[in-house]
Amino acid sequence: MKELVTLSIDDREIQAEKGLTILDVARDKGIDIPTLCYNEALEPYGACRLCVVEIIRGNRSRLVTSCLYPVEEGLVVKTASPRVIANRKMLVELLLARCSKNKVIQDLAREIGVEKPSFRSEYLENNDCILCALCVRTCQEVVGVSAISLVNRGVKREVAPPFLEPASACIGCGSCVYICPTGCIKMEDIGDTRIIHNWKVEFKLKRCKVCGNYFAPETQLNYIKRKLNLPQDFFDTCPNCR
Ligand code: SF4
Ligand code: SF4
Repeated sequence: MKELVTLSIDDREIQAEKGLTILDVARDKGIDIPTLCYNEALEPYGACRLCVVEIIRGNRSRLVTSCLYPVEEGLVVKTASPRVIANRKMLVELLLARCSKNKVIQDLAREIGVEKPSFRSEYLENNDCILCALCVRTCQEVVGVSAISLVNRGVKREVAPPFLEPASACIGCGSCVYICPTGCIKMEDIGDTRIIHNWKVEFKLKRCKVCGNYFAPETQLNYIKRKLNLPQDFFDTCPNCR
């Protein structure tokens, strides 16, 4: 039988399964906590720290990342206390300074009440990557390929293929592109070719034997063929015609 704990989130008494995180439980109860680097299909990572909440025990309180912190018996959680809001605004200001032209970050900042960063304009960058590692983790944990990783330190930190060479392990599935919250991984399908600009790779696309449309990179289909025992028709026909 599942063990339950009782905690309070924003003054609501809640029973939750032991082992779940504060974020899991809050979202399940319809309590909104913003995130950028969280996806329920992936292991929590705690990179963006937007999901920070305040936990209180007696006279002491501290901020924790709710995507990593497990619920506990008697825990008191505040998801929007003045301390949480101030911390979240500061994080969003930093993101906005790094990604000053990115629409997703601009919209998020507006929602959180940050009009513009309080830094001087020479400190603003025009980077679209927030280093959330969703792309890296998806490639590794979901696709099972590990074609890209976070490299370098400090201001030079970035996502890249090994040795900054074309990503030789990439199968062209596009999962990293779809999951990137800021839309900074550029992929194009032109005729029979898929190009992923960030990873410097190109793939030949397979044509559907029914409708004639190009639908998936041959490398991706070959990868799935090696992993799963599926009928040949799956590899010759696009999802719409299957
Ligand atoms: S497109 Fe390449 S890098 Fe992106 S998830 Fe797929 S295999 Fe990984
Ligand atoms: S490329 Fe996108 S998904 Fe990958 S770390 Fe940067 S923002 Fe996150």
